[in-house]
Amino acid sequence: MILKLKPAFKDYLWGGTKLKTDFGFESELDKLAEGWMLSCHKDGENTVENGAYAGKTLSEVIELEGRDILGENGKKFDFFPILIKLIDAKNDLSVQVHPDNEYALRVEGEYGKTECWYVLDCDEGAELIYGFKKKISTDEFRARIADNSFLDVVNKVKVKKGDFFFIEAGTLHAIGGGILLCEIQQNSNTTYRVYDYNRKDKDGNTRPLHVDKAVDVTLCEPPKYGTKPQGEVKTIDGGKSQKLVDCELFKVKRIDVESEVSFNVGKNSFVSVVVLDGEGEIENGSDTLGLKKGDSIFIAADSGKVVLKGKLSLIKTTV
Ligand code: ZN
Repeated sequence: MILKLKPAFKDYLWGGTKLKTDFGFESELDKLAEGWMLSCHKDGENTVENGAYAGKTLSEVIELEGRDILGENGKKFDFFPILIKLIDAKNDLSVQVHPDNEYALRVEGEYGKTECWYVLDCDEGAELIYGFKKKISTDEFRARIADNSFLDVVNKVKVKKGDFFFIEAGTLHAIGGGILLCEIQQNSNTTYRVYDYNRKDKDGNTRPLHVDKAVDVTLCEPPKYGTKPQGEVKTIDGGKSQKLVDCELFKVKRIDVESEVSFNVGKNSFVSVVVLDGEGEIENGSDTLGLKKGDSIFIAADSGKVVLKGKLSLIKTTV
């Protein structure tokens, strides 16, 4: 079963317009900060665009079909396990941190958040914040938040298209202005904001900070991981494939279809396909759907052979 999903959009104050102008999404919102491409989260659910389930939310489809469509790995989670977003940061996002599962389930009643970013495009000189330059104490972190000097100790990284960041729960981070990326994350919206550049929204309000919780969960040290995908680009039948990350929460690949690429969807996991560029189609059994930049497809676990045709760049995610 292949389902085309309609994204949910967010017009957060730091967002730009590339998701409209570059990805062609239509929305009444002026700016599109985020497109939630694979989401069962209550704050922005996907609805199905094709077939017998057209108009239903993805959560409703899972309820009607049964949790087997998530696969053995997907069923282990109490909630839908992941959330995939396209993010267009025209301006800097707040500096933030997410708790791990243990803390989040205890304090917030949802999963924590480990996330990863694949940089799709960026302005010359764009940078982001990824952990700290060197290890500091929790007391120093708290003191530097209070006197507004902690930006002096964070690890600022200049980014390039194709860079990849694995942001384990507890890692301080911020996407900088001028960066367009795809984010794959645990399905959680728990964010502890440390610093928001003293910005005010259109009503003159600042967004709340969550300093105590942030201090509880932040690892005040340099990041453990690099800034590149885990794997090299490999030639496969009909195209290219590159492992971006393979961890216990999600497995993410970039695939470039040059003519025709096929794979089998077995019992272990559902598959998400988010199209980054190009045009083509996807086939599963007697179902065929057209594909273009910005499309998001959910493939039920145990769907069997799936064929991608055309010229396409996409992100393939499983759990
Ligand atoms: Zn985050």
